[in-house]
Amino acid sequence: MRILVVEDEKSLNRLISQALINEHYSVDPCLRGDDAEDYLRGAEYDAILLDIMLPGKSGLDVLRTLRAKKDKTPVILLTAKDSISDRVAGLDAGADDYLVKPFATDELLARIRVMIRRSSGNVSNLFSVGDLTVDCDARTAKRGDKIIQLASKEFDILEYLIRNSGKVLSRERISRHIWNYDYEGGSNVVDVYIRYLRRKIDDGFESKLIHTVRGAGYVLKVAE
Ligand code: CA
Repeated sequence: MRILVVEDEKSLNRLISQALINEHYSVDPCLRGDDAEDYLRGAEYDAILLDIMLPGKSGLDVLRTLRAKKDKTPVILLTAKDSISDRVAGLDAGADDYLVKPFATDELLARIRVMIRRSSGNVSNLFSVGDLTVDCDARTAKRGDKIIQLASKEFDILEYLIRNSGKVLSRERISRHIWNYDYEGGSNVVDVYIRYLRRKIDDGFESKLIHTVRGAGYVLKVAE
């Protein structure tokens, strides 16, 4: 899960970003509205936290541009206490939710989970393909009754695959989704992690769930 945090108050931005990183989200912190648009052109996000008063371009304008492009990425606005009109304008412009500053980190995290769940069209954050089940809130995975121990990035990739099960995802798309802009690994790091995942998910099971589509990428599905 990758999240863009657009907030020009540096200390608040750092606080939010760190809280998200602790929850295993991959985070791009951004301090300006115009920069946010560059980030949004370059990556695919699961959620955007968007302050309204920003240098370069206002959060509302960033949001309007995004929605004008039919981009449905969930957006939570971060608003000041005394700006009811901003909140109304934000919701009208297509924000999914808002939080009034100062807010509790736990509440922010809960709202993000709800929003991501809603945007996935799932009633829970539980996904299954064949006998594989993945609980994205508890960050656990099972095949049948067997609990699968996964390292953090392995889980992130499995989560992305199962949220998009049946869809072929390119290496580039996977790496762009899992790692933020600070990361400088090659694209073959995805292959390395897929190898780890296969060992844990598919080895010893007759029906394989992770499939390579030559020249295209990987797909998680029950083999036909
Ligand atoms: Ca601000």
